[in-house]
Amino acid sequence: MYNPTSSKAEEFISHEEVLATLEYAQQNKNNEDLIDNILEKAKRRKGLSHREASVLLACQIEEKNQEIYRLAEQIKKDFYGNRIVLFAPLYISNYCVNGCVYCPYHAQNKHIARKKLTQEEIRTEVMALQDMGHKRLAIEYGEDPEMNPMDYILECIDTIYSIKHKNGAIRRVNVNIAATTVENYRKLAEAGIGTYILFQETYHKESYEKLHPTGPKHNYAYHTEAMDRAMQGGIDDVGLGVLFGLELYKYEFAALLMHAEHLEAVYGVGPHTISVPRIRRADDIDPDVFDNGIDDDIFAKIVACIRVSVPYTGMIVSTRESQQCREKLLHLGVSQVSGGSRTSVGGYAEQEPEDERSEQFEVSDTRSLDEVVKWLMELGYIPSFCTACYREGRTGDRFMELCKNQQIQNCCHPNALMTLKEYLEDYASGETKRLGEDLILKEMEHVSSEKVKRIALGNLQDIEQGKRDFRF
Ligand code: SF4
Ligand code: SF4
Repeated sequence: MYNPTSSKAEEFISHEEVLATLEYAQQNKNNEDLIDNILEKAKRRKGLSHREASVLLACQIEEKNQEIYRLAEQIKKDFYGNRIVLFAPLYISNYCVNGCVYCPYHAQNKHIARKKLTQEEIRTEVMALQDMGHKRLAIEYGEDPEMNPMDYILECIDTIYSIKHKNGAIRRVNVNIAATTVENYRKLAEAGIGTYILFQETYHKESYEKLHPTGPKHNYAYHTEAMDRAMQGGIDDVGLGVLFGLELYKYEFAALLMHAEHLEAVYGVGPHTISVPRIRRADDIDPDVFDNGIDDDIFAKIVACIRVSVPYTGMIVSTRESQQCREKLLHLGVSQVSGGSRTSVGGYAEQEPEDERSEQFEVSDTRSLDEVVKWLMELGYIPSFCTACYREGRTGDRFMELCKNQQIQNCCHPNALMTLKEYLEDYASGETKRLGEDLILKEMEHVSSEKVKRIALGNLQDIEQGKRDFRF
């Protein structure tokens, strides 16, 4: 029944195959020879199968676990250097007809404030985000065909790209909307979106149906096959994710990698990103009622095992996680973080009154973007606002090809420095600016191509003179 090239959800995420994988991993969790072989394969940076990765996740040998962490850190450095890309979520509408039991936007929640931004309100929100320094957004909507139809979503994307305020610009809009039709995905692709993001929540069909008792999202197959339709509609970059805490993490982990294998097998390109959200407290939601919460150590191991299994896939961690937890995950494989996030509709322009709260979850890391940028630099990372690839047409298999042979570094590194320079010129506090200028000077020394270095140095001077938007 298991068939990675099938178009049917229950065949490419075969429940029997996941169970057989968990059994295999359990039997081999102390099998030193097998674990060594898998680690040797992982060191070749070509990725691991879901079965191999599951053995590493189950591994109980402390010394081998330390090796997994070291390898994850090394692979992270090889593929992403010390750069961390920054983005912010933008909640546009929390009207939703679904009944997801872990989300405060579920249709039965009558006491959360329901909001949908007008184009004018989007302008205000986007200008607030631009004034923070953001260049890359992930826009979020509940599923409601009447309140949030596709035309409205397309209009919002258009509005966001059109706003030029001071030196600000949103250069990449990633979109997180409910599973939809090929035709609608085509419209999104034509609107110039970056990544299409859709979290699976859980791959366990039975649990999925219980957790989504009402609304169109109840349909497991339609939801799970969404990325196929997105790719058929011309969207090259898709972002996967599960909501850890809903089901057993080992199950989710194996199935998530099977999903990645399916996309690779059918479309020749795996997921552009993988997100690793954990369930959080919110209005009408108590995370403690879900039995499958994972602690920080298991969470770190999941991130490390994803890193060694799909080395070329970006990994995202949001402000759901605390500063301390994010710090740990950065070492192990995370390549993108959000900063200064608000998870409510209209939350950037104005703080919401207590009785009109509309946030999707409580943010754990509440620092401003400037504080996050400074923190990253103090930890030795280069905060990057780069959005070059999709604007240069480096998407899908073209992007993956550059990524897999590690050539993408030649673009990412100077782009990170140039976009950081823009941030320092336009938005940074004095202390952040001082740290950033030193970092750029130091990092320019590591640009290996003399030609690229010369061009980048010229661009950095031009940025000081007020010019913007350079990229390789
Ligand atoms: Fe609606 Fe998404 Fe929340 Fe489900 S998770 S209730 S689909 S906004
Ligand atoms: Fe991302 Fe491409 Fe920029 Fe690198 S060059 S940071 S891969 S957008």
